[in-house]
Amino acid sequence: MKILVAVKRVVDYAVKIRVKPDKSGVETNNVKMSMNPFCEIALEEALRIKESGHASEVIAVSIGPPQCVETLRTGLAMGADRAIHITTDVGATLYPLSVAKLLKALVEIEKPRLLILGKQAIDDDCNQTGQMVAGLLKWPQGTFTSKVILDKEKQVATVEREVDGGLETLCLDLPAVITTDLRLNQPRYATLPNIMKAKSKVIKKVTPQELNVVIKSDLELLQVTEPPKRKAGVILSSVDELIDRLKNEAHVL
Ligand code: AMP
Repeated sequence: MKILVAVKRVVDYAVKIRVKPDKSGVETNNVKMSMNPFCEIALEEALRIKESGHASEVIAVSIGPPQCVETLRTGLAMGADRAIHITTDVGATLYPLSVAKLLKALVEIEKPRLLILGKQAIDDDCNQTGQMVAGLLKWPQGTFTSKVILDKEKQVATVEREVDGGLETLCLDLPAVITTDLRLNQPRYATLPNIMKAKSKVIKKVTPQELNVVIKSDLELLQVTEPPKRKAGVILSSVDELIDRLKNEAHVL
């Protein structure tokens, strides 16, 4: 059984995001880029499923400009067996629906039984791609998973999801789409020997044209702006003073 994992290259989580001066988006020039943290969790889960004997191959896929190859090399160093780069033009804007269509086309070629994605990419925080690709494929979906148990014989994945009211358990018939939440696992670090080995592995390149997908969007991005600056807070001397301010100034009590 194959598992396909979608890994996105994003601005590193530790970098302070800056908006471009022309407000057309977020600055990515000379900024440290990394694998989206939720995608690391997705890849880790796929590797654990393989290590427990429930999968035969883990394939990492990334969609975007040539630099996505670095993200895929990280994936190979973590333990993915193969990597596929769906190449797009530098500067092309990729919205979740286009990514979902490309992933669907790749799924139809690779025929994995499980497609694992991060619950969201931390650059645009869309939280849409997993749901969209599941809809396009007409596969069951388990989003925001914090636990995954696979039964290869019954071809079922039992997933625990983090929902507003607590935890929900779902049984998904395979093939299925899973998106990962933060508490699913702690991703491994790639070891130096594996990083070196990953450098020489071949990364397959596929174009959207070869997948018969036209990248277009009906969305128009008008402007990206910084959130308004928060005013400085005040330090109060006692709880009584706090209650007094909440009652008489903020009028919330
Ligand atoms: P989003 O819906 O944009 O928040 O992304 C959710 C998940 O979809 C990510 O964590 C990835 O697993 C996958 N994804 C989104 N964009 C890409 C991309 N360009 N390449 C690979 N995977 C992607």
